[in-house]
Amino acid sequence: MLRPVALVLLLLAPLGASAVETLRIAIEDTGSEVRVSGKGLASGPDSEDADFTPIASGQALIRRKGERLEVNGTLVEGDSVRFRAGVSNDSAAPGTEPLKAGAAQVRGDVVVRAHHRNSLQLINVIPLEDYLAAVLGSEMPVSFPAEALKAQAVAARTYALQKKLDAYSNDFHLGSSVLHQVYGGVNREDPRTRAAVDATRGQVLTYELAPIEAYFHASCGGRTESGFDALQRSLPYLRPVDCPCGKLPASRWTATLSDADIKAALRHPAQGLKVAARTRTNRVTRVTLGDGASMDGVELRRKLGYTRLKSLDFDLERTDRGYVFTGRGYGHGAGLCQWGAKALADKGREYREILSHYYPGAELQQLY
Ligand SMILES: [Zn+2]
Repeated sequence: MLRPVALVLLLLAPLGASAVETLRIAIEDTGSEVRVSGKGLASGPDSEDADFTPIASGQALIRRKGERLEVNGTLVEGDSVRFRAGVSNDSAAPGTEPLKAGAAQVRGDVVVRAHHRNSLQLINVIPLEDYLAAVLGSEMPVSFPAEALKAQAVAARTYALQKKLDAYSNDFHLGSSVLHQVYGGVNREDPRTRAAVDATRGQVLTYELAPIEAYFHASCGGRTESGFDALQRSLPYLRPVDCPCGKLPASRWTATLSDADIKAALRHPAQGLKVAARTRTNRVTRVTLGDGASMDGVELRRKLGYTRLKSLDFDLERTDRGYVFTGRGYGHGAGLCQWGAKALADKGREYREILSHYYPGAELQQLY
């Protein structure tokens, strides 16, 4: 068990240590050259506390030279170089000015490193709290009540930190699939998401001293799913709990799929599609297709499409128009239910209570 030890080490790290508070996100692999620009641009070695040298033009052209890198025609030490923009004068967007790196526009620092073959890899180094403020609006509607947004902020912080510890010694902690959230989020930065992040600054959920795997989803339909049944993650704090979202009309859905739709998606006529098995929370784990063939529930959902088959908690009916799926909830169902968090917040519950409801046994800790 390496992770609890890693967390203890991080807890012992001095306050303000970048070891805890920054995330490294791989944003792009490019060819052998790339441009980085920004107001007050400076460059230095890949370290939080390094001295950075201003680049007067505000523009850098980075070229791969064998195993080393050249910045504006001058070779630099080592196989990576870090860029940072000047401090922003905009009080609405504190921190540094945004950087343009390749096709991306990001906050925080950008590291360019020699990657395999003759390519370059771009890594965005961003304070965890800024990252959360940026992505929270993509993860939950900003119109949700403040206590629900705070619960989501803690879940997202915990999730990111857990990923960071898993990949602690790697060059980056999160892959590029998260990038799209970052972009969507930066454009959607909102005072309400910033307030939820600030109010819970440094707070994470732990179990036996390690950050939990804080999965979340849009709505569970009335009862959350076990971590094992939803995601093959058998964890004590991911167990089914009742949820008030089941009473909301928003958690009900229907989808009608013609025989042709089904055949195209499954590559099988599936003339006798039937539910064959369910989990204890009623979610479908297996369907039969009618000729002896069968399919896993998760695979069925992937093939029919996550937006058509919003969850695996559905009833199935054969009609003249094809198959009618009548379902509850949206998403895999494990961990925090966002619509349930909204319903609990509307009833006056605060974010700590919401978190302990959806992650039973997990403890809220102040990490920094
Ligand atoms: Zn729910």
